[in-house]
Amino acid sequence: MQVIGNFINGKRVASESSRKAPVFNPATGEQTKLVTLATVSETEAAIGVAQTAFETWSKVTPLNRSRIMFRFKALMEQNIDLLAEMITLEHGKVLSDAKGELTRGIEVVEFSCGIPHLLKGEHSLNVGRGVDSFSLMQPLGVCAGISPFNFPVMVPMWMFPIALACGNTFIMKPSEKDPSVIMRVAELLKEAGLPDGVFNIINGDKESVDVLLSDSRVHAVSFVGSTPIAEYIYATGSKHGKRVQALGGAKNHMIVMPDAEVDQVTSALMGAAFGSAGERCMAISVAVCVGDGTADLLIAKLKQEISEMRVGPGSGFIEEPHMGPLVSKVHADKVLSYIDSGIEDGAKLLVDGRDFKVVDHEQGYFVGPTLFDRVKPGMRIYNEEIFGPVLCVVRVKSYNDAVTLINSHEYGNGTSIFTTDGDSARQFCEQIQVGMVGVNIPIPVPMAFHSFGGWKRSVFGPLNMHGNDGVRFYTKMKTVTARWPNGSQTTNTFSMPTME
Ligand code: NAD
Repeated sequence: MQVIGNFINGKRVASESSRKAPVFNPATGEQTKLVTLATVSETEAAIGVAQTAFETWSKVTPLNRSRIMFRFKALMEQNIDLLAEMITLEHGKVLSDAKGELTRGIEVVEFSCGIPHLLKGEHSLNVGRGVDSFSLMQPLGVCAGISPFNFPVMVPMWMFPIALACGNTFIMKPSEKDPSVIMRVAELLKEAGLPDGVFNIINGDKESVDVLLSDSRVHAVSFVGSTPIAEYIYATGSKHGKRVQALGGAKNHMIVMPDAEVDQVTSALMGAAFGSAGERCMAISVAVCVGDGTADLLIAKLKQEISEMRVGPGSGFIEEPHMGPLVSKVHADKVLSYIDSGIEDGAKLLVDGRDFKVVDHEQGYFVGPTLFDRVKPGMRIYNEEIFGPVLCVVRVKSYNDAVTLINSHEYGNGTSIFTTDGDSARQFCEQIQVGMVGVNIPIPVPMAFHSFGGWKRSVFGPLNMHGNDGVRFYTKMKTVTARWPNGSQTTNTFSMPTME
């Protein structure tokens, strides 16, 4: 069986670790590979490699770093079919969705190609007579990224293209559930001309993460994953003096106003709730219907659409399914237990995705699309992130009740409103305590040149991923105040210098 090790100093290297994790094909339940879980000393050695590479990489001009990014973008595009297949085989999402993930990742590379412009800094002429001030945006050194299973390429690519373009070196610690594809991406970076040691991958778990969080040679840590781990990463990394951006879990609500166009809402909601089997941090898992009439109409349409959904393996189909399996048996069992808890807590189960089998894939980790009505705060299916194909309908009486409901939830990643009334939409954008807001857009994921991040317990740390925040996160600013006297100084000044 193939064993996946690490990618250090420009090549794949076997790990000496005795600890290994199985990698599965979620559509069949077969174990396909093993991934080694790196040791402390291997992780420390990788940091050493990245630190050495920083000496030369940080001195490469931004224009030349950008040219490598241009070549990397072209290679990613040339290899998109193969990379998508690799994602599907370990994550389970359908191929078109895997390609969509890759495209959103490539967009961050496109943004990074503009790094000479983005690193220009500030300049003020004559802050005092004959005195100029300007800022330098300098790289930090070795940076680390820790990513979740649900976007094995896109989430790492929120991080490393910008970090590298800014002149840092990088250690990626991908999810142990789907580690293959990012190893191939590392080879493409090398093919694009990235010097050895600038980008490295350590496959591992808490043991290697704890090294990245505590080793003084690592200057910044980017994390995306569940909230308890995000909080731990933020607290531990900060305690060791690092910059940390840590994005956590979500419970994304969509308000459906009585004036919304119901066919448009239904189609938006179907993709947002069940696409990628609900394993997206921006998935809509709660539909908040204003008025019983709105809820009844929407539910009737949703039930019809759900009955026509195709669920099956993410690749190898004749007609592409709408949704694939969940990533692992453990995760599928967890989602099933949430469905049980919803029934126990008194929610009304309208479509039951339990006992869902796909012909010839009986061992796959499939859970069918599930719909609950009359869900209320306090129920576990409302309070907690399920991260599966389970859509909850909450009924409220008014727009204000909908806003209060959303603002009271501990998570604040994404949200949206469907309405034909501009005034409601405008108020919503201003009042809602959530980081990414959609108006008649179900999954408002910001583009690469904007920044991605939630509010409340969906994020820890002030700077979000990519866009200007990404550039600020991976650079430290130095401000120079300079005077070039004409002729030699004739008087000594001993009082506090002030600008004139
Ligand atoms: P996870 O938190 O279990 O794992 C994320 C990463 O942390 C992995 O690399 C894992 O190896 C590592 N890790 C796990 N336990 C650890 C520990 N105790 N100490 C140190 N490192 C540890 O998350 P997951 O199940 O892979 O991904 C799903 C979660 O990610 C969901 O909660 C989802 O909402 C979230 N997510 C959030 C965003 C966002 O932008 N906010 C985006 C994608 C996913």
